[in-house]
Amino acid sequence: MTPAQFRSLLDELDELREQLYRAYRSKRRIKVQDTLARVRDLYAPEDVMPYVQIQVGVLHREAQKSTKLSWLQVSYHDDGELFTIGGDADPRGYEVEGKLITVSDDQCPKCFGEWCINLHNRQPCPGCGVELGKQVMIVAEQDICPFCQEERADDSSHLCECGFDWQADYVAKVV
Ligand SMILES: [Zn+2]
Ligand SMILES: [Zn+2]
Repeated sequence: MTPAQFRSLLDELDELREQLYRAYRSKRRIKVQDTLARVRDLYAPEDVMPYVQIQVGVLHREAQKSTKLSWLQVSYHDDGELFTIGGDADPRGYEVEGKLITVSDDQCPKCFGEWCINLHNRQPCPGCGVELGKQVMIVAEQDICPFCQEERADDSSHLCECGFDWQADYVAKVV
């Protein structure tokens, strides 16, 4: 999957999240509200905020780690009202052993554990030891920066405003 395909999947998940959101705002909402109120009452009510979270993701079977794609959280506020927050992953594409794989930008494409690299700190993955430019390469799209997710302002420039260089030695190829 390319980063662009990942993004179009997120668009579909946006619709799903919208449907779920509407479901929570409908009659069923009352039940959710009552249930969360009960959860809250069982704890020290002033200390907790109960919530329901729905998450769409994939489990990488062999690694037993997940890529979280999209989530919606409905929380029960002190005043008895429900409020919803949601979000989705920022994709980053990598080439690993000749294969293209897109994961979220805080994740290793080899072991799928947490790996927070940025342009100034490109330490090896703490889970499996892979390094950018060695075992894994960034696969950058023509028009979206894999680090800041901003659109490329100018095709003729190979430098993003965040400092990412489309021609860096750890960039595999531009798709
Ligand atoms: Zn790793
Ligand atoms: Zn950038």
